[in-house]
Amino acid sequence: MRKVSIFGATGSIGQSTIDLIARAPDNYQVVALTGGQNIAQLAQDARRLQAQVAITADETRLGDLREALAGTNIEVAAGRSALVEAATRPSDWTMSAIVGAAGLEPGLRALQSGADLALANKESMVCAGPLMLRTATAAGQQLLPVDSEHSAVFQGLIGEDLSAVERVIITASGGAFRDWPLDDLEKATPEQAATHPNWDMGQRITIDSASMFNKALELIETKEFFGFSPSQIETVVHPESMIHALVGFNDGALMAHVGPADMRHAIGFALHYPERQTLPVERLDLVKLGQFTFRPACETRWPALRLAREVMEAGGLMGAVFNAAKEVALDAFIDRQINFPRMAGIVEEVLTRLSSQASHNPDAITLDMVMQADHLAREDARAIIAA
Ligand code: NDP
Repeated sequence: MRKVSIFGATGSIGQSTIDLIARAPDNYQVVALTGGQNIAQLAQDARRLQAQVAITADETRLGDLREALAGTNIEVAAGRSALVEAATRPSDWTMSAIVGAAGLEPGLRALQSGADLALANKESMVCAGPLMLRTATAAGQQLLPVDSEHSAVFQGLIGEDLSAVERVIITASGGAFRDWPLDDLEKATPEQAATHPNWDMGQRITIDSASMFNKALELIETKEFFGFSPSQIETVVHPESMIHALVGFNDGALMAHVGPADMRHAIGFALHYPERQTLPVERLDLVKLGQFTFRPACETRWPALRLAREVMEAGGLMGAVFNAAKEVALDAFIDRQINFPRMAGIVEEVLTRLSSQASHNPDAITLDMVMQADHLAREDARAIIAA
């Protein structure tokens, strides 16, 4: 039986992971399930999957979780240190699906403790790509991409010589506002931004899709994960979201990964890697789909894409600065303190003010340094919003 843990089990990716695991209960022993506010879902899944331990990130919810799991022998715990402790429990495969920079440390600890890490938490690579890769290599563990675009690139590179890759094209749906007149964006509400045309995802990533901050994070993740130079990484708007990414080779071939908008494909690929196993996802009918369309990814509409390019060029700890500033700006938009276009303005100001963070040698970056850069950027972004 394979031991598995799921960090961020109550979220969109976590629930899709549980769906796959629950279909083959004899194959998996669930070690840790973690959540945040959704105690009812966490307790229900912990019971159903007979998890060893259930953890909420919110210490104030420990009593609720304890009550919900009363009468079982499932351990309960709460808070950041409990999350990190759970990541050190022996597991063969761990899903990293906490949202935001909060997912970084548990993922690192899981790798160090001997788990292969399925990485949905793109922020880990954006904030600390070299540290993640170094940690996986030192521990002899696999780091498996779960973002659909990166899973697509990963699959497109199997058996290929990396030096033959000319470019990688990451597709973008364009999010909720892809067809809105630019002038209307100032009036966009969080509810409108959180309605994705193609995917059913968590609130934060859906709003990040509308602003293309999600794509910006993915471009940086592509650089960090695969080691491509920024000039090799392109993005194009593909409203149907059926092609997740394309890899272009030096003979002109362009290999596209086509698949349904269902994260269980990428999660299942990471779960069964290096094998392929049957997955409960839709089989595409190309005739019914009819056509795939593409549009340029306009940096005026989506300034986050330009900022991503600048962050990739700058290197050092600028990814951590970018992500933290984005998280604070996103909170402020959700709380209606700022309007939709202002998010990019705030992130740009923080990047300018903290440009000295680019000077760090990537090979010397530690978790403490990442947390420090993250802290500085959050403080700075909050000060800009408050001013
Ligand atoms: P959700 O918001 O749906 O879920 C996030 C999970 O993290 C929940 O379990 C939540 O708990 C928990 N959580 C929230 N805040 C904290 C915290 N501070 N500390 C610990 N746990 C916390 O997110 P998604 O599933 O959509 O996304 C998860 C990650 O995967 C993100 O990094 C996202 O970018 C990435 N991703 C998501 C995709 C998708 O299709 N959804 C596609 C590709 C990547 P609770 O809900 O109980 O409060």
